[in-house]
Amino acid sequence: MSAITMRELTKVYPGGVRALDALDLEIADGEFFALLGPSGCGKTTLLRTIAGLEVASAGSVRIGGRDVTNLPPGKRDVAMVFQDYALFPHMTVRDNIAYPLRIKKVDRRSRGSKAADTADELGLSGLLERRPGQLSGGQQQRVALARAMACHPQVFLLDEPLSNLDARLRLEARTFLKRLQRELGVTTVFVTHDQAEALALADRIAVMEGGRIRQVGTPTEVFRRPANTFVAGFIGSTPMNLIDARVHGDELAVAGARLPLPDGAPGQVSDGERLVYGIRPEYLDYSPTAVPGALTGEVVVVENLGSVSLVSLDVPGDHAGASDEAGAGDDSGAGRTSVQVVVPEGGEPEPGDTGWA
Ligand code: ATP
Repeated sequence: MSAITMRELTKVYPGGVRALDALDLEIADGEFFALLGPSGCGKTTLLRTIAGLEVASAGSVRIGGRDVTNLPPGKRDVAMVFQDYALFPHMTVRDNIAYPLRIKKVDRRSRGSKAADTADELGLSGLLERRPGQLSGGQQQRVALARAMACHPQVFLLDEPLSNLDARLRLEARTFLKRLQRELGVTTVFVTHDQAEALALADRIAVMEGGRIRQVGTPTEVFRRPANTFVAGFIGSTPMNLIDARVHGDELAVAGARLPLPDGAPGQVSDGERLVYGIRPEYLDYSPTAVPGALTGEVVVVENLGSVSLVSLDVPGDHAGASDEAGAGDDSGAGRTSVQVVVPEGGEPEPGDTGWA
């Protein structure tokens, strides 16, 4: 069993930066788990604190039920793959993979055969005598993974594992990594700031902001049921539209339009209540002709994204969060906000057109 449990985990760097703020998190045995969030939110610090490369200022880390908070990295039974792979440039692939076994004082013969077996699993058999400088980025990444796997650790920790690869290789490496993790079944925690990568790979995702966790859930949960506007705005290839709205009976007044209350809302909200209406650009339909009750506005920008376009409509109403100082409770529609709509190829309007969504 190699579940990871963090309780009230806090890291304050010298100088006072609180990179982790009393964070509680449980990662299940065998889970492929993503730490996701914007730059500086504390993802790498959390990973390094699990690894033992950073010492916690307060709180605890348990791996497989064992309190490892004060143990050095070598005693935690974890293997970390760094963003730049950190391979030894003067060593062959075979010696790089065998290095942790050497540190563990495994005899030379077993080291060689274990390194060869691991290399075989990762499709590196033909490259054992090469040095890192003679490998592609994707191959270097596999060597770094092989080095981490050679000791059969309880936990893999991967820091931005795909960020050094170009777009095409990254897709290939994603599939490879996912298959490998399934086959090995080892608890794996990876850091990424790329929400698409987290959604594609992880069993569950922790979305972080400012040293705290804003939501933990499966990719479907964080995408479909974001717990707050931060997660709603962060997850999704185009940010979710977040607009101030007000309940009117069994309808929602939003940006000059009247929409039915979303499923689950009746009974949870009261008449006149102010709330944030969130809808993804891909779930809105664009119409060049009037649709009663729909959002309506002027097309200001049309961005070609390949097979679809992203259309920005300037509609009356306030962007959620922007209106608090500008007269909270005022739903007169005095402000303007931009609503994004995904429009299929061929149906794009022109800037200046009036559109409905
Ligand atoms: P990125 O995606 O940019 O790598 P991150 O989410 O991994 O960011 P961390 O690297 O964990 O974030 O940093 C969290 C906070 O701690 C940041 O404000 C950062 O500046 C600060 N920090 C990180 N390392 C140190 C350090 N050694 N000394 C002081 N402050 C640090």
